[in-house]
Amino acid sequence: MTDAHPRLRDTEVERPLATLTSVSVKARARELGFDLCGIASAGDHARLSFFRDWIDRGYAGEMAYLARTADRRADVRAVMPSARSVVVLGTLYNTDRPYSTEVADHGEALISRYAWGDDYHDVLGARTDALRQWMASAHGAELDTRVYVDTGPVQERLYAEQAGLGWIGKNTCLIHPELGSWLFLSEILCSADLMPDESGVDHCGTCTLCLDACPTAAFPEPGVLDATKCLSYITIETKDIIPESDRAALGSHIYGCDICQEVCPFNHGAPVTDDAAWQPRAALDRPRLAELWTRPDAELRDAIRHGPMMRVRVKRLRRNVAVALGNSDSVEAASALRPTPGGQDRAASIEEPVVAEHVAWARARLAARCGGAPPGIVRDLLL
Ligand code: SF4
Ligand code: SF4
Repeated sequence: MTDAHPRLRDTEVERPLATLTSVSVKARARELGFDLCGIASAGDHARLSFFRDWIDRGYAGEMAYLARTADRRADVRAVMPSARSVVVLGTLYNTDRPYSTEVADHGEALISRYAWGDDYHDVLGARTDALRQWMASAHGAELDTRVYVDTGPVQERLYAEQAGLGWIGKNTCLIHPELGSWLFLSEILCSADLMPDESGVDHCGTCTLCLDACPTAAFPEPGVLDATKCLSYITIETKDIIPESDRAALGSHIYGCDICQEVCPFNHGAPVTDDAAWQPRAALDRPRLAELWTRPDAELRDAIRHGPMMRVRVKRLRRNVAVALGNSDSVEAASALRPTPGGQDRAASIEEPVVAEHVAWARARLAARCGGAPPGIVRDLLL
């Protein structure tokens, strides 16, 4: 990992202590490779109650699991009554590839930065559990613990802010003043009373860059995301048909969106990691849309196996690529989408009704727009 930022202060890690204290937990966290570690008390912090309000406003869309867990999310003691402290861990995943806002070529597939490497649930689940085990042995007495990596009913960004890892920006991301926001978070609830850290301080000030840059106006107010309008939700959480009214806004995004993080001044010159787990897989390292489209299903499946993109699987990924091809206004896209008799076996997912509907939309859009090519060329390819 880079040394360009103060992950855990050296004064806090001079020597691992035998007993369980905030200092010893942070020392061990550093040894295990975490970039940030802070402690929050397990109280019902004021901002935690907003989540229910957010659900009631309909901003969670089809993410029913969020509504189901809303009450438990208001206080971690609802999931672990003995919880006294929350150890929050931050792991930098930024790599040296350009931001999507720097990519001018509409033929390049845009994939959210966090999804280029291995599945963070698996990688951080193992690392966080290693810290949990160490805490249990260091405590000596009985210690209740529970590990969460994104999936549990824990408002992790709010606890991260409470634990001093940064602040929640107007783009709703957790931002560290020096590391930026390319951070995975994981947590350990524990029954020990550990010394809590001071809460993070908001540095957004009068800036509104993230709010202004969002292509779908997904922020009804600063710090509040209407997930149903967000490209991440549309490309990942929408299970079947993407509404036609949303398709043009996807542009070249096929999985998630990073725009509101990329424009944030705290991510300009953000440090990068050399952790092998987060480096882009070859097949997902700035792929062209047309190249992804022509890959057989089995190759696409291999490319996303054990990675975050398994969440959408091949069918939804193909659907998204079809929409992005339709948006790319190019002869290259029209060639890729050209019907290939006998090609069904190579990519059976193209025949899925959901995918086929988006392919038809993309072909019609390309035929109508032609991307500057003589209209006959694109129409001849597609019709
Ligand atoms: S991820 Fe993209 S679409 Fe979603 S809020 Fe941010 S800029 Fe808007
Ligand atoms: S872009 Fe500006 S307003 Fe948005 S999170 Fe970053 S600093 Fe805050």
